[in-house]
Amino acid sequence: MDFKLTEEQIALKKTYDDFFREEMKNAPLSVKRGGLEGAYSEDGYKFNRYMRKKLVEKNWYVQHWPKEYGGRDAPLIEQLIFNESMGYYGVPGIDGFGVGMFGPTILLHGTEEQKKRILLPIARGEVQYSQGWSEPNAGSDLASLKTTAIKDGEYYIVNGQKTWTTGAHRADHMFLLARTNPAEKRGRGLSVFNVDFAWPGIEVRPIKYMDGAHIYNEVWFTDVKIHESERIGAENQGWGITRDTMNFERSGVGTFSRVRRLLEHIFEYVKTTKRAGKYLWEDALVRQKIGRIYADMEAGRAQAYRIAWLQEKGNLKFSPAAASESKVLGTELTQRVADFALEIMGLPGNLEGSAWAPLHGSMINMYQSIIGSIICAGSNEIQRNIIAWVGCGLPRLKGQG
Ligand SMILES: Cc1cc2nc3c(=O)[nH]c(=O)nc-3n(C[C@H](O)[C@H](O)[C@H](O)COP(=O)(O)OP(=O)(O)OC[C@H]3O[C@@H](n4cnc5c(N)ncnc54)[C@H](O)[C@@H]3O)c2cc1C
Repeated sequence: MDFKLTEEQIALKKTYDDFFREEMKNAPLSVKRGGLEGAYSEDGYKFNRYMRKKLVEKNWYVQHWPKEYGGRDAPLIEQLIFNESMGYYGVPGIDGFGVGMFGPTILLHGTEEQKKRILLPIARGEVQYSQGWSEPNAGSDLASLKTTAIKDGEYYIVNGQKTWTTGAHRADHMFLLARTNPAEKRGRGLSVFNVDFAWPGIEVRPIKYMDGAHIYNEVWFTDVKIHESERIGAENQGWGITRDTMNFERSGVGTFSRVRRLLEHIFEYVKTTKRAGKYLWEDALVRQKIGRIYADMEAGRAQAYRIAWLQEKGNLKFSPAAASESKVLGTELTQRVADFALEIMGLPGNLEGSAWAPLHGSMINMYQSIIGSIICAGSNEIQRNIIAWVGCGLPRLKGQG
């Protein structure tokens, strides 16, 4: 296998790199530190929308989508180069829920009318989506969810509560998974809906961090009327559709290029920082740990490329085991980087917003926030269960996400 880029692809990568490097000079500190807290803060979200406008203007926002739905039919490799560059520079702007998850789901399962009506506003960057899956008693065991959508003529009447809804306070839309047949248990009676927050009966309530940061929400539905034209796929077939959406959520090359950038900062740190009279790079343990992380990063990147290839071959469909492997590898690798960085930085590594904080305090920020990534999108225990079941062919245990 040869991952070398052609001259045109190298030129394209340079175009992306130059643009993102320049734009990120104006990013607020909350964004430069990385993590969701920055993305949803006041100045961070403003910068997010600014970048989105730029990406749409350049026709880079959904470039891999077909032309008729707002994309430019970009070859897969160009999309990968773009994603790597964005991940490397930590650039916000893409609506991960609309562009990364619901859009591809609509491409797979939407009707022609839905593709035109739902995909074009996403492609123009006019809407922001959120993910309406988890409930207070349905996380890992998502198929046990209780929010109901009961058919009444041409409409469904929705009642229930979603929780941990990332960025719902910034969103105007949601893809919702609800129970359309309460007589059926688990995945059999569920359907997927496109929801507009402007409809009456939807209330978004904040779940704030101890420090007041606002990222997550509860979303309550009280007698919300959803027209049947907003149901994606057949009634009661939402679980199969949601499995495809999960695959889109759990894979991506951006995580590994982000780790590459973090490692480069750490290389600089160990080359310029002395402890007990010696540079950190001279310490055998430091070198070994860096070497291991670097090797795993390269493995993760190769896996992300493989997933993109599987997606292309399977017309967007691919094995959940591959997506789960990528999710486990990417999140746990990022956690190892943050652990390692704080280990070698000592107490200053815990500083944030101080001139003495190494690497702008980004590592302590990541150390704290990565735990959320290990749980969200299906916890890593659940991902390992999926790998054992689908990837290794072991018999399935019930209630495994
Ligand atoms: C940062 C973050 C963002 C999120 N954003 C969203 C969002 O936007 N929209 C949304 O719908 N949801 C969101 N979630 C919810 C997320 O999907 C759930 O938290 C996750 O699926 C775990 O469910 P739970 O919290 O109910 O934990 P539980 O399901 O109660 O799990 C508790 C613990 O038990 C373990 N466990 C459970 N079952 C098994 C099993 N069968 N085998 C082995 N171990 C098991 C889990 O791994 C976990 O460690 C988010 C969560 C986080 C942390």
